[in-house]
Amino acid sequence: MTTKHGTRHCYKDGCRCEDCTAANAAYQQKYRERPMIVPLLAPATPQTFEHGPVEAGVEEEIAGLAEARPGLLWFLSRGGEALK
Ligand SMILES: [Zn+2]
Repeated sequence: MTTKHGTRHCYKDGCRCEDCTAANAAYQQKYRERPMIVPLLAPATPQTFEHGPVEAGVEEEIAGLAEARPGLLWFLSRGGEALK
């Protein structure tokens, strides 16, 4: 397989001719001049949303559970962790 002279690829394959050395030097220079700090994306802000049919259904189900199992409210009020 032959590689085209005057390219960094050829330089990496071991060629040290003038054109390949220059191509590698140009790449290295560009690499060194790259920005070291990449700007971060804007911090994510939590999106607000309105309750829809899913949230209403979950709230209804939780309310039903609280009526059927009053101890569940006590359990959930303590973070839902099991007693030790
Ligand atoms: Zn070469």
